[in-house]
Formats: sequence, C-alpha cells, structure tokens
Amino acid sequence: MAKKEFQSESKRLLDLMINSIYTHKEIFLREIISNASDAIDKLCFIALTDDKLGMTRSDFQIEIKADKDARTLTITDNGIGMDKDDLENNLGTIASSGSYKFKQEMEQKQDDIDIIGQFGVGFYSAFMVAKEITVITKKYGSDTAYRWNSTGADGYEIEECEKDGLGTEIILTLKDNTEDENYDEFLEQYRISGLVKRYSDYIRYPIVMDMTKSRVKEETKDSDKPEYEDYTERETLNSMVPIWQRPKKDVTQDEYDKFYQEKFMSMDKPIKTIVTSVEGVVTYKALLFIPSSTPYDYYTKEYKKGLQLYSSGVLITDNCEELVPEHFRFVKGIVDTADLSLNISREMLQHDRHLLTIAQNIEKKIQRELTSMLTSDRENYEKFFKAFGRQLKYGVVSDYGMHKDELQDLLLFYSSTEKKPVTLAEYVDRMKDDQKFIYFATGENAAAIDALPQTELLRSKGFEILYCTEDVDEFTLQTLMMYKEKRFCSATNDDLGIENDEKEEDKKDKKDSSALLTFVKETLGDKVAEVVESKKLVSHPVCLTAKGGISFEMEKYFNSVQPDSGMKAQRVLELNLGHASVQKMESLIQTDIDKAKKYAEVLYCQALLIAGLPLENPSAYTDLVCSLI
Ligand code: ADP
Repeated sequence: MAKKEFQSESKRLLDLMINSIYTHKEIFLREIISNASDAIDKLCFIALTDDKLGMTRSDFQIEIKADKDARTLTITDNGIGMDKDDLENNLGTIASSGSYKFKQEMEQKQDDIDIIGQFGVGFYSAFMVAKEITVITKKYGSDTAYRWNSTGADGYEIEECEKDGLGTEIILTLKDNTEDENYDEFLEQYRISGLVKRYSDYIRYPIVMDMTKSRVKEETKDSDKPEYEDYTERETLNSMVPIWQRPKKDVTQDEYDKFYQEKFMSMDKPIKTIVTSVEGVVTYKALLFIPSSTPYDYYTKEYKKGLQLYSSGVLITDNCEELVPEHFRFVKGIVDTADLSLNISREMLQHDRHLLTIAQNIEKKIQRELTSMLTSDRENYEKFFKAFGRQLKYGVVSDYGMHKDELQDLLLFYSSTEKKPVTLAEYVDRMKDDQKFIYFATGENAAAIDALPQTELLRSKGFEILYCTEDVDEFTLQTLMMYKEKRFCSATNDDLGIENDEKEEDKKDKKDSSALLTFVKETLGDKVAEVVESKKLVSHPVCLTAKGGISFEMEKYFNSVQPDSGMKAQRVLELNLGHASVQKMESLIQTDIDKAKKYAEVLYCQALLIAGLPLENPSAYTDLVCSLI
C-alpha cells in the first residue's frame, strides 16, 4: 500500500509535535477523548431518529486500554466513525482552526512552547507521545472499515480492514523512553485515571477502563498472614455530571475556572462567572463566562459568537448564535434546557419561542451582572472594558441605536479632569451649574487631545472633557445624542455654549475686527465657510472648528473607508486676535497686502495640520513658508 503525504501545513504541525519539548504532553489524551466524545455526540443524535441503529444514550462509551508489553494505549469509541474520505480529509490535513492558529503562533514564537495548552491542537498532539498511530474505524451508514496508519511526518497509509460495530479505535504505540522522558507513565492506570479526572471529568459519556486491583484472597481472609491477589474491575473514570447541573454552592470558583479554561481553551481565568438557574415559563440552567482578555481572533471572521446549547444533557449545537446578542458576543458558556425537542433543526431553532425567551433572559442577566461589576468591582470592570469596551460601543451604534438605552451606562470614557475612565453618569453628576453640554474631544491618543488648541478654553474654564480615542467613539456619542437630557458637544464645534464673560469695558476698548475677518475670508475663498474671532483660543493663533452635523473625525473616517465619499465638514477658521502673528497680518493689510495674503494662507494651513486634516498641496505650503522666512 502506497504511502500518502500529509498536506504540507499538516507536515509542519506534525514536525512541531514530534519534536515537541512541551512539558504537558499529557494533554494529548484530552484531545483524543474530546474527539471521541464529539463522535459519540453525532451518533447519539442520529440514534434519536434512526430506530434501526438500535442504540440508546446509555449504550455509548469511551474505553481506554493500556498494554504494557506492546507499549500501546488504545482509546475506543462507539461514535459516528470515519470513512475513507473522512480519514483523508480529517487526519491528512489540519482540520481545526485551533491547530492552524497554533501552527502559525509557533512559527512566530519558536521558543514559547508553553502556549500549546491554549489551542485545541487536536489529533496530531498524539504524536508528542506516540511513534506510531493506527486508527481503525467504521462509519455510520458504511459497511467497510478502514485502517489508517502513520509513523509520523513521512506520511500515512489507508487500507480496508475488518471491524465489528461502528466507531473508532485509536492505537498509540508510545515513543521509546529517553533520559529526559518516560513515556511509560502513560501506560500506568493511575496516571491515566488521573488525567481523565483532570481534563475530561465532564465528558458526558462514561470513560471506562479495566483497572487492576488487589484484594485479600477469600480463603486467607481469617488467617494471620492474609494473601493478596490481583483482579480487574471495570471502572468509570469520569464523574460525568456536568458542572452546570451541580448546585452553585457545591462548586468552587477554581472548578469553574478550570472548566472554562479547558472548555474554551483559554490560558486566562474568566473575569466573571455567571451561574443561573431558572424555572418558570422556560426552565434552563446557564453557566456563562466573561473572558478577562480579548481572544486573539475576536475581531476576525474566525470568531464565532454563541453559547453551547444542550437539551437535558445532550449537545444540540456547539454554537447557538441566537442565545447572545451581538453586543455581548464575547460571552462564552453553556445553556441546558429541557424545553427543546432533541431533533430540532437549525432553522427551527432560530424561531423557537422558548429559545427566544431564554435569549432575552440571558441578555438581561449579562447586563445586570456587568452593571453590578461596574459599581462594586470597578478595577475588574475597567479591565473588562479595556478588553471589550469597543464591542459595547459598536453595540450602541449598530441597529440604528436600538440598544443604546441598555448599553449607555456601561460605557467608560477617559476624563480630562479625573485622569481615568469615567461613566456618563459620573460626568453629568459633576457638571457645573452653568454647563450646557457634555464636552468631548477626538484624537489619536490622550496626549494628542491634550495638545489640541480647541480644548484650551474648556480647559481654562475647568470643564471636564471626555476623550474619544477610538474610531467608534464619536459615532457612539452621535448615536446617543444626549445623556440625561444633556447634549454631547465636540470641542471642535463652533458653538460651545459658553457665555462670553468679557467685561463691558473690555468690549468698548476692542477694535472692530470685521475688516480683518473679511480680508481673510476673501483670501481663502471657498476653502472655509466662515472666518471668526475665536472665543476658545488662549495661546494658539488659529484653529478650525466644524459647523453643521459633520465633524472632522467623521470626515476623516468616511474618507479613509470610502475615499470618494465626498464627506466634508464645513470649516470655520477661528483667529486669536490677541496673537502676535494675527496682529502682524492685520498690520500688513495696510503696508504689504500680498504678504498679508500669504500669512492668511499659512495660518489656514496650520489650522488644517492641527486638526489632523490633509493639506491640499503640501509643497505649495512649504514654498509659501520659505518665501516668508
Ligand atoms: P478538531 O477535533 O479540532 O476538529 P482534530 O485534529 O482533533 O481536530 O480532528 C480532526 C477531525 O478528525 C475531527 O474534526 C473529526 O472530524 C475527525 N475525528 C477525529 N477523531 C475522531 C473520532 N474518534 N471519531 C470520528 N471522527 C474523528
């Protein structure tokens, strides 16, 4: 039988596994058992509707056998099995995205072997401990069984063989012991049962093994020198009771954390564990987790939102998207309900009334838990917000702002006066008596916003400013429009709603600046909608503010995603009449009008630069500056 080559991606992963120096090689058993359990899930599901199969849930099991003489460890399941194509497609190529991602990470961080535990590295992980793997399998609906065999990276063979009954048998021939590694440990029954308890305790099918035990010989029971004999007894190694079915008071946080880490392949502990049990119109148990950091694939297509859905302990779907709203898509977990029929189809699931009610309850529950974390555990909430705050803001903006009331009190923005993230409620509580608006300013980061001339006046008057440093921030505030009847106002708006507190005598002393303003407007033409005397600027000569509904940040955003969008904010050039350069320009109008025009151009370009907007013609600008030097 000719050897087939592994697909090249798989070969690389296989090499990594074969030569792995990872210290927790034991996880291979978890991976093989989890595959076996998935395979049983599939056949168990079919058994519900196919009477000919003649199997009920209690017939399914996973069996482990260790043969010390042959140095083999065999894991057998009576699940769905594989046919020839499945063997080619599933074991000849990298099947799971977890394995693929793992391979990529490994190639970048050669030395950080410890990351392995994060990924569902799957079947190939067995090559960490085995020099040869044989898979004997027969698929539901097929009469032929197949043997797949591989001794590592040089390829694999598939041939027909005999096998009673459906399912898969995985035979691992362990690697030879070396000075550093003792692979024989995986043949020791107590080591195996320990691993099953540790990693696979919640597998819902019995994982059985014949355990060799010792007992006093019956006939020597009453003698002074009792003799012992070995006997074997089949034991179920896992407790099988799913953690979410156990009363909350009987489970420690450590157990929840471990379950989360194993089930959802995370290195971190969850930042929040939510356990709920509801009886009433709908009856269900849910165990939900809020991760403490953003998963590596969170903002990619790879990330699938959803909760695992069980009906009375039988897995219906791994990812029931309908159970969590988009804005809480970071929540992981499990829902188990008796209210669903087991053979419900994917399409029916979407419209199921019970499921909708459960989803609504879960949404409210998550919101309440986040609110309570915000008030009673601020430090962790801020950590959570760092990881998923952007998601909550997208939630405000999406669906035409439909969820804004639910989400607005969960938002945090960095505050100019508090120097830390604050809620909108905290901001409004602190507002000054005469303050009309909730002020915000937009920029790359806090330092860039601190340097914005437009914020000078607000700052000098002691108004608090919320910093918008993410793309979505300004849209979020635009969508909210107001909070507790206070409108949001950008620091770059032409009207900041601040009373002009110039004294009457100052006003009398003031020169009429209209000629200067008209001159600058005529010089700049259509580039600006207006030229006005600034009430905001204190030390800077000029700034731009936006008039009307479109802000500069929106202009920048839309032009970056759609360059021909034609989105343009109306520019208002503000002049600081007290600034030396502006005064110089004014005097030049009388003595050297061409030079005065150049001043106006240069000042306008500076205002564009400060606003982070592109210059129409950068080389013309530098020529202009040079001509004045
Ligand atoms: P993953 O389980 O993450 O998809 P694996 O590399 O562990 O990736 O397994 C690849 C595929 O091989 C599985 O998705 C499954 O289709 C198939 N497979 C593995 N083990 C078994 C088994 N015991 N019974 C049936 N199919 C299996």
